[in-house]
Amino acid sequence: MGANVSQLEREIGSDLFPPNEHYFGLVNFGNTCYSNSVLQALYFCKPFREKVLEYKAKNKRPKETLLSCLADLFYSIATQKKKVGSIAPKKFITRLRKEKEEFDNYMQQDAHEFLNFLINHINEIILAERNAGPSNGNGNANPKFHTGGAATSAMASSTASKSSSTSNSNSNSNSSTNSNGNSSNSTGSLNATTSVLDASGSLTATTTPIIGSGGSGTGTGIGIGTGTNGANSEPTWVHEIFQGILTSETRCLNCETVSSKDENFFDLQVDVDQNTSITHCLRCFSNTETLCSDNKFKCDNCCSYQEAQKRMRVKKLPMILALHLKRFKYMEQFNRHIKVSHRVVFPLELRLFNTSDDAVNPDRLYDLTAVVIHCGSGPNRGHYISIVKSHGLWLLFDDDMVDKIEASTIEDFYGLTSDIHKSSETGYILFYQSRDCA
Ligand SMILES: [Zn+2]
Repeated sequence: MGANVSQLEREIGSDLFPPNEHYFGLVNFGNTCYSNSVLQALYFCKPFREKVLEYKAKNKRPKETLLSCLADLFYSIATQKKKVGSIAPKKFITRLRKEKEEFDNYMQQDAHEFLNFLINHINEIILAERNAGPSNGNGNANPKFHTGGAATSAMASSTASKSSSTSNSNSNSNSSTNSNGNSSNSTGSLNATTSVLDASGSLTATTTPIIGSGGSGTGTGIGIGTGTNGANSEPTWVHEIFQGILTSETRCLNCETVSSKDENFFDLQVDVDQNTSITHCLRCFSNTETLCSDNKFKCDNCCSYQEAQKRMRVKKLPMILALHLKRFKYMEQFNRHIKVSHRVVFPLELRLFNTSDDAVNPDRLYDLTAVVIHCGSGPNRGHYISIVKSHGLWLLFDDDMVDKIEASTIEDFYGLTSDIHKSSETGYILFYQSRDCA
């Protein structure tokens, strides 16, 4: 490792080494690469790092939470004397294992599930601390808050992670089984709601109370229903960074009434097709879908379940666009999740084409900032690494190892064009940062 460390500095060159930047690997505590890879990606999402460090500066003696541990870790990296090296995120992992039973073991976990949990959990901590704060005059906000969005989200994430690393891929069954008429779930491509569905194995039973208790049109599980909770309606910095809005338009095929509904999201989950691009995946995400047979739509105008056409488009583009490629598919014939290593190109620059007509900032241009990569052949085995862009350099973080890579190496992580069941190193979560916030 020592050799690698100095080699990295040599490779970058002391003249070119970005001032005030630190490239530190993270020690693995027994299959914690799912956490290390996501933490590195987040560390190099500039607005996120800044807010976490700001939190650290503002909270000198905080009660220990996962956020305070994350802030300590980021602060520790950012204030290292050396430019490169490795650091042990021991406190963070210990706290994570305390916080969430499902992570309290040495098994491989799903990096996306971890990201989902982390983002939601941090957001809840910020909201809870805001509510507990002395400046908050709304005395009734607490109970309301706990039965509202946050409770919903906690429920979503706790149920979601029960299925460990495999829960977020099972979209086909969603759309076919969802007969509760709740249009927000029927695309089967959204976030924690989807995970909840998959985890429980019982779609309607799990979805209905979650959507019902949220009550805010935020059917997308990873997004928290902040809009309805009085004192909490003010967005947190987590919302400001990651939250976008999807709008779903549903046209009843009986009466032709179009109804639309907005949902918050913290990331978008897209299906992967062979030899395509992320733009293709996003287009498919927004393809018109017909709701029929078991999946009919409850039309308020007709007061009954009807066939309908539905499409989801992005109405508000987030500052950081996190895209989850659904590479773990449940295959009935194998009775387990199989990795789909299809080749999906993700460009360095991205524009969204699946925006709604009333989108606020439809032309936002995104730059690829970080990619969490899954290496291996299945969801329960394998390894996670990440590549990040920092000051024009591309770096690969593999637990405690850090290497400089050429931008051209990124295409090695697009996937396989043949032998797709072979072990592969493929982009799994993409982080795109809006250029207007750079
Ligand atoms: Zn109708």
